Amino acid sequence: MTNFKPPALTSRLPQVGTTIFSTMSALAQQHGAVNLGQGFPDFDCDPALIEAVHTAMLAGHNQYPQMTGVPVLREAIAAKLAALYGHSYNADSEITVTAGATQAIFTAILALVHPGDEVIILEPCYDSYAPNIELAGGVVKRVPLDTQTFRPDFNRIQAAIGPRTRAIVINTPHNPSGTVWSESEMQCLTALLRDTAVWVISDEVYEHMVFDRAAHQSVARFPELAARSVIVSSFGKTYHVTGWKVGYVAAPAPLTREFRKVHQFNVFTVNTPMQHGIARYMQSPQPYLDLPAFYQRKRDLFRAGLAGTRLRMLPCEGSYFQCVDISEVEAFAQAGRQGDQAFCEWLTTEIGVAAIPLSAFSSPAQGMLATQNIVRFCFAKQDATLTRALQSLRDL
Ligand code: PMP
Ligand code: GLN
Repeated sequence: MTNFKPPALTSRLPQVGTTIFSTMSALAQQHGAVNLGQGFPDFDCDPALIEAVHTAMLAGHNQYPQMTGVPVLREAIAAKLAALYGHSYNADSEITVTAGATQAIFTAILALVHPGDEVIILEPCYDSYAPNIELAGGVVKRVPLDTQTFRPDFNRIQAAIGPRTRAIVINTPHNPSGTVWSESEMQCLTALLRDTAVWVISDEVYEHMVFDRAAHQSVARFPELAARSVIVSSFGKTYHVTGWKVGYVAAPAPLTREFRKVHQFNVFTVNTPMQHGIARYMQSPQPYLDLPAFYQRKRDLFRAGLAGTRLRMLPCEGSYFQCVDISEVEAFAQAGRQGDQAFCEWLTTEIGVAAIPLSAFSSPAQGMLATQNIVRFCFAKQDATLTRALQSLRDL
């Protein structure tokens, strides 16, 4: 044994370390900081949802379900998509239940992308997209969002589309910036893709968090886009249960068939009692219909507090994230530090509030340019948690 040397290991993801979300949560815990970093609620879900899962367990729904998801849940999802966005997905052939949105996105990419295919992502964006594309053997084409507004720049997107472009990943409401795509932006995307062979992976996990009476522009609202799109959503976000890891994909039948070929080998099936519980809970639309007002109130409470600080707020149209510009925080500059990453470490360890640096959502080259003075807070927290964080932020 003493001479044993394990085989050489060549990383598939040499640039990747632990995600910023885990890193900042660990730092927050270590320093007893209020954690407004990683996106998750610090309050419980509706007890009725837990009751529904408990009932499903007691009723014996504890073995492997159908590979595609339990029929009652797929039907509930199809009914919701039809009611909200006017597109009828077939519950048998076009809806698949997934182990959260992360698995859904990865599985969609593995199903679509052949080695050498290009996939466009709009930076800053959620951190799993680029590694997913690389693991599929694809080539990541990074297109920056507008650096001031974080809105899509269709000229740049058009310029990035070439003969090898297989897909584009979009995300509205947007993590991290909180922008919500407008109807005319969706129409621009429709027109731009019209004569291309590009699929759309539409990450809509924050679909029910859109504020100020605006509407979520799901690709399902646009028949031409829907015909070339995979919609991804997550019950973790909608029902305040990020740890349950249950989501879904809606896509046209031919694409769903390909999606399921991969799905059956990388997850096979998703937690049975959770699926039954969620299906029962979905019988009432009220919980997700109430969500915009629920989070808008938290956004407004948080923004009212931030107005009295040196942090300059960016707009927040949706999601549960609020971004701020940190340039005017003199105490940080006086501490001899710079950059959003150092700011978040300093804010966590010295001020007692954790946030996420925006550069974590871009490749190093882009991140340094556009987002070096911006950090993201998550306001999916109890009012008392937000108030406690604001008390610390006021002293900056
Ligand atoms: N996409 C975006 C934009 C997200 O913010 C998240 C949340 N982590 C996910 C996907 C993944 O969701 P899930 O927790 O359901 O895997
Ligand atoms: N989506 C969440 C966020 O953006 C966290 C997900 C994760 O920890 N991977 O904060």
